[in-house]
Amino acid sequence: MTTILESKTAETTIANSYINEVFETVKKRNANESEFHQAVKEIFDSLAPVFAKHPQYMEHSILERIVEPERIIIFRVPWVDDNGKVQVNRGFRVQFNSAIGPYKGGLRFHPSVNLSIIKFLGFEQILKNSLTGQPIGGGKGGSDFDPKGKSDGEIMRFTQSFMMELSRHIGPDIDVPAGDIGVGAREIGYMFGQYRRIRGAYEAGVLTGKGLGYGGSLTRTEATGYGVVYFVQEMLKDKGLDFKGSTVVVSGSGNVSIYAIDKATQLGAKVVACSDSNGYIYDPNGINLETVKRLKEVERKRISEYVNEHHEALYIEGCSGIWSIPCDIALPCATQNEIDSTSAKTLVSNGVKAVVEGANMPSTLDAIDVFLKNNILFGPAKAANAGGVAVSALEMAQNSARLSWKFEEVDEKLQQIMKNIYQNSVKAAEEYGYPGNLVVGANIAGFLKVANAMVTQGVI
Ligand code: GLU
Repeated sequence: MTTILESKTAETTIANSYINEVFETVKKRNANESEFHQAVKEIFDSLAPVFAKHPQYMEHSILERIVEPERIIIFRVPWVDDNGKVQVNRGFRVQFNSAIGPYKGGLRFHPSVNLSIIKFLGFEQILKNSLTGQPIGGGKGGSDFDPKGKSDGEIMRFTQSFMMELSRHIGPDIDVPAGDIGVGAREIGYMFGQYRRIRGAYEAGVLTGKGLGYGGSLTRTEATGYGVVYFVQEMLKDKGLDFKGSTVVVSGSGNVSIYAIDKATQLGAKVVACSDSNGYIYDPNGINLETVKRLKEVERKRISEYVNEHHEALYIEGCSGIWSIPCDIALPCATQNEIDSTSAKTLVSNGVKAVVEGANMPSTLDAIDVFLKNNILFGPAKAANAGGVAVSALEMAQNSARLSWKFEEVDEKLQQIMKNIYQNSVKAAEEYGYPGNLVVGANIAGFLKVANAMVTQGVI
């Protein structure tokens, strides 16, 4: 990737060489963690103007400290499958940074999970959580357990075993996990039950994304997808555009995708495609969300089944082809690195106006480069998908106060938070010399709050 920022002044040159030096150490010390390197590089590439303007962050070795997790916990998760066989998975929790609040971030259950993936997610989470304006630090966890095809009983036994160890390390003022890929309402329910049983106390704020009947918050289920669309709305509004009449492609068909499709459709867009890890569907009439919801959330089937009910729709095997569908707005909501530079170029040549990330790190560094160079409106994940964790923080607030707010009340707060994130990112980009570049703006705005807290709190 050609770096986003060029050296403009002597101060920037010094800052760049400091950043490069720390990045080399990161690569050496965390060999073979390519996703983590990628997330660090994306953020580091934005920070030269910050260090040029405020050399005190270099004096306090903020970069050296922020890339080093405060704590990493890796543990064995043994469980018994339906055939009576003992299975063993690996569990992770990376407690990355607690300068501005208790560690906060989801749990991912997916066979691809390893330390590199959890560290990239945890690192991104630090700045994302900071951007929300809520008092939450950054963390992430999960397991290489594959929920696909498992029975309810197997899911329960696995999550109980996972929580058996995780419970030693979390708490409402310590570390507050939630969902991510493979972890939804069912898994959070089993984990909360097990935590409560181990602790012998009702600590509602230990997990977020809970069911509405036992401490969950209205709007949390919708928050990430709705938040992404609210963020796009702000971006479009600035250019005199809106969703009405636009064609939208959303990848994925999990929680983020479903509620992004829902809100975009409510605002007058036609969402023509979505996907799962096997392939994608194209429906020229607009995706029927009720069918997708039932197939994925109730029946837990593959998205290919959609075409059995909607005969004008097509199913195409493989995932990257979804980006060859002409659209005005692309919302990658599936997983990391789902858009490479080839897909990015195809989107651009098909006339895409905005690309906004619902998943975490769905665009490779080269893909981001393509979007920025072609002046596509680009909304980076840590800003655009922060609505989920922001409402998680509101769930924690409600749990502490032992009350629950109305749907409209939380939704309004979410809209305001997404507006603030957008405006703060725009402002930071402008202030540091990169107007219109939300990658730089979000990274700087998120970083400054954490860096200031770290400086103030001393060498920790
Ligand atoms: N997994 C979500 C994220 O990537 C939500 C985390 C949370 O609510 O703690 O931000």
